[in-house]
Amino acid sequence: MNAARVETILHRHPLIVGSGIAGLATALSLNGSVVVTAAGVGDGSSALAQGGMAAAIDASDALADHVADTLRVGGGIADSRVAQAIASSAPELVNWLIEYGAAFDRGPEGDLMLGREAGHTARRIVHAGGDATGAEIIRALRIATVERTDIMLIPRTRLIDLIRFGDSIGGILALTDDGSVEAHIAPGVVLASGGIGGVYARSTNPRDVQGAGLAAAARQGATLADLEFVQFHPTALAVRDHPAPLVTEALRGEGAILVDENGTRFMVDIHPDAELAPRDVVARSIWQHRRSGHRTYLDSTSSVGDAIQERFPTVFTAALEAGIDARRQPIEIAPAEHYHMGGVATDLDGRTSISGLWACGEVASTGLHGANRLASNSLLEAAVMGHRVASSVASSVLETADEQGTVPVDAFDRASRYYEADTYSVRQIAWNNIGIARDRQGLEQALEELEAIDGPPSDSSTVAGLIAAAALERTESRGAHYRTDFPDLDGELAERSHVTPRPHARVELSPLSASVIR
Ligand SMILES: Cc1cc2nc3c(=O)[nH]c(=O)nc-3n(C[C@H](O)[C@H](O)[C@H](O)COP(=O)(O)OP(=O)(O)OC[C@H]3O[C@@H](n4cnc5c(N)ncnc54)[C@H](O)[C@@H]3O)c2cc1C
Repeated sequence: MNAARVETILHRHPLIVGSGIAGLATALSLNGSVVVTAAGVGDGSSALAQGGMAAAIDASDALADHVADTLRVGGGIADSRVAQAIASSAPELVNWLIEYGAAFDRGPEGDLMLGREAGHTARRIVHAGGDATGAEIIRALRIATVERTDIMLIPRTRLIDLIRFGDSIGGILALTDDGSVEAHIAPGVVLASGGIGGVYARSTNPRDVQGAGLAAAARQGATLADLEFVQFHPTALAVRDHPAPLVTEALRGEGAILVDENGTRFMVDIHPDAELAPRDVVARSIWQHRRSGHRTYLDSTSSVGDAIQERFPTVFTAALEAGIDARRQPIEIAPAEHYHMGGVATDLDGRTSISGLWACGEVASTGLHGANRLASNSLLEAAVMGHRVASSVASSVLETADEQGTVPVDAFDRASRYYEADTYSVRQIAWNNIGIARDRQGLEQALEELEAIDGPPSDSSTVAGLIAAAALERTESRGAHYRTDFPDLDGELAERSHVTPRPHARVELSPLSASVIR
């Protein structure tokens, strides 16, 4: 095995990749940590979350109902034990966020205002700033993190690969914004690197979030779960692809209608609930209508009218920035990738199948969401699991490794070509054939096209390939996974899916510079 020389930094504390709600909740719950994050601290999907966080705290609500709603929306394969554990932590989590300064919306008596969203049988959505919940949570957690002297923040630095010592993960190979490659050696690594939006041509996620943690775990041979289940949001503003600004479904709940360029309410002929049909049905219908040459709009001018400015300020402002006055004009919308139910398989402590490696938030798959995510359950899961991961890491006897580390053999090649990687082609391939509606021919074609892209496989190409392979295997339609060649549910397939990729060949690392212990 050849050795590759690299600047090496030794850390005394566990290392967290990512600074969305999962990463920050983990860091704040540990005594000492290092946070390596691709962009600025707090950047990611979390800060864009609109609707809020689910918690059964109303007197008329019950934990059992939150669990039942989660399982029903999860398409028959969500894990009831996980749903019970996470939903039961929700009230405590809301208090934890309030203690950190998150200012949730309150009524005249000072009680938390609770919204209702699709799939929930009760009002249980805690929100902030109307539709700016994620921004408020991240504002509060970011301030708390920056104030903590035991949290070392390393922004503008990307995970390229995980470093393995024997059978355990003990660090990451990272690429800084100025192009340097560094080895960060640490006693334990927590992946909190978010979802996979950057894999698709259109997503509500920032483009930075492109499955880096999932791809790195796959290259180490970690077990992955439920990869075929990708949720597409039906209504994102059709002005920009990354992030495509979300137009919350609460507007449809308030009576906004979907029309095409002729003013035709096309959903009326498709589903008895028209605009309020399940999220995947609406997303598919809009996608098909646009593919047949139509343009699609959300019209809230009669139902919500001027109130959109006060009640949905994020949507109103995003539309205004695109030159649309949503009080008077319909908003052009199109579906966009929104959330990945699949990810690195973990237990309820966030442990992956590889020692020294934990995962939480959207990069992980606990089984909470099954085949489809109940609205407002993901901020909740990310923060609850951040706490649980921190306890698990703290109770594990971990030491910074002193033996020779290894990384996948193409890690340095991928780092040096990081900015040239053909992610554009991946996004088109994924959108066209691994997207909202899939079939065998399209999935096989996608796999061939991904294979034909020049250079070492990028993270997004690896993730797209894994999703395509999992989607090929699932010969039925369930939750967010829709196969036009297998449009029905198959009772025999009512199980989560797991895959353990073969680990990549590895190369040894040897320190180039004197190691710095921080
Ligand atoms: C527009 C929008 C609205 C939403 N609304 C809601 C809602 O109302 N309620 C709800 O529950 N959920 C909502 N969601 C989903 C929810 O926001 C996310 O699932 C959740 O915030 C994920 O948190 P996270 O910490 O796992 O990931 P993120 O918040 O995405 O954070 C990932 C972090 O990892 C970093 N990162 C990525 N790649 C690398 C790398 N290679 N190296 C280093 N760092 C890296 C990113 O920069 C970021 O800091 C919404 C999502 C979007 C996009």
